[in-house]
Amino acid sequence: MSITKVTQHPTQNESLIFERSQTGRVGYRLPKLDVPETLDVIPTEFRRSDDLAGVPEVSEVDVVRHFTRISTWNYSIDLGMYPLGSCTMKYNSRLNEKVARIGGFAGLHPLAPEAESQGALELIYKLQEDLAEITGLPGVSLQPAAGAQGEMTGVMLIRAFLDQRDGEASKDRRVILIPDSAHGTNPASAAMSGFTVKTIHSTAEGLTDMNHLRELCNEGGVAGLMLTNPNTVGIFERNIREICDTIHAAGGLVYMDGANMNALVGIARPGDMGVDVIHLNLHKTFSTPHGGGGPGCGPCLCSAELAPFLPTPRIEKSGETYRLNYDIPTSIGRVKAFFGNFGMMVRALSYIYTHGSDGLKEATEAAVLNARYISHKLADTYDEPYQSDCMHEAIFSHKHQAKKGVVTLDIAKRLIDYGFHPMTVYFPLVVEGAMLIEPTESVGRADLDAFIEAMIDIDREAQDDPELVINAPHSTRIGRLDEATAARKPVLRWREDMESTAKAA
Ligand SMILES: *Cc1c(COP(=O)(O)O)cnc(C)c1O
Repeated sequence: MSITKVTQHPTQNESLIFERSQTGRVGYRLPKLDVPETLDVIPTEFRRSDDLAGVPEVSEVDVVRHFTRISTWNYSIDLGMYPLGSCTMKYNSRLNEKVARIGGFAGLHPLAPEAESQGALELIYKLQEDLAEITGLPGVSLQPAAGAQGEMTGVMLIRAFLDQRDGEASKDRRVILIPDSAHGTNPASAAMSGFTVKTIHSTAEGLTDMNHLRELCNEGGVAGLMLTNPNTVGIFERNIREICDTIHAAGGLVYMDGANMNALVGIARPGDMGVDVIHLNLHKTFSTPHGGGGPGCGPCLCSAELAPFLPTPRIEKSGETYRLNYDIPTSIGRVKAFFGNFGMMVRALSYIYTHGSDGLKEATEAAVLNARYISHKLADTYDEPYQSDCMHEAIFSHKHQAKKGVVTLDIAKRLIDYGFHPMTVYFPLVVEGAMLIEPTESVGRADLDAFIEAMIDIDREAQDDPELVINAPHSTRIGRLDEATAARKPVLRWREDMESTAKAA
């Protein structure tokens, strides 16, 4: 490979590892071959003949410094507050990581026989029991690998239950009701399981409109409801019992999106509210790593009535022995290879055990207190679309700043200059210019105050010098990206004839 000349400031304009390649450089040493060379058993058409052309030739120090430098361009939960509403970006204790690396857990093969996997099976069983206790729903499957997959599993349980209960008539019950504030995965899960979706309006208070709910139930064909509680504007649906009763009276079942369980753990149980099925996000509420596409864990929990339909294999305990039961004819079948993402289960149980029941309750209280503190402190500066007390996340809109031409995206980008990760923007869709802020319990008073101060400063800038905010961020390597093009036409492959990425930036 030819030498590409790179003369850029090391941290501000890092070129790609391919562009740093220098012919003849190596960063590895292989041990001497101590077995006979068997190259000739590989058919010629499967052998590489290009001498690894295109693979960067770099030294160890080139590699270490390159990746360390680019890691500093990123923001992470270890660097500071990450107030993405609906995402519950809490700090994860290092202890959870240590436990997940215990050799017997980390090195266990998924096909190891039951007799040699008793510890892992016990861990899964105990986590199931704890999550059942926390939600008040006895049926559990830890198989789903994400919240969205947990949702789909839950909706499939509803469908299997209705098919068994109603037989042929079940096909006339194919409507799932979903509030207009819902997460986009809810209608997607319903549609993928063969249902059609009808949207329920919210009231000016930010709650499910009970009259509209009754009206839709009266139209008939209702298989169920999918509801997030606290809902996606951060408000507890205080009519939850009546909502469940209304759906049950119409012959449907209630699915709760449990992504917001961080506001409820140790305080209130969905099972006690009348919910039939729920998913949890271990990678939100139960502190397992989050982002980068996984691995995640989105357990599905349900009432005893729906439990026969849960995915197989089921873990059962007889005496002191755990076994896997693959033979459950009513089951919807597998939704994920093996048992789901086991490492996430280890971390979640570690989180539960290190907190204990008092600690879990305290975490919930702190999460709600932190969000209410932000809501209260910013109430005079930013428009609050709803008057109700928020739960674990606070919602604002850009209404006051928009008069100066400063919108939610600008405020979010300016927060980067203040050293914070932006909040969730433009979600939920029911609030124009929404800013959804979820501090979580893992932020102390000083950090909350610093965030609040930054938000107040940004408002002052929006009033006095709007251009400063509109052109933010000013402190990053790259300013405003064309995000639509970046998402729709991503450049994923480097070619030698490309313009240098460092120059292009
Ligand atoms: C995060 C979230 C989901 C989806 O969870 P994933 O693990 O990202 O698939 C669903 N509903 C709500 C309300 C969420 O916040």
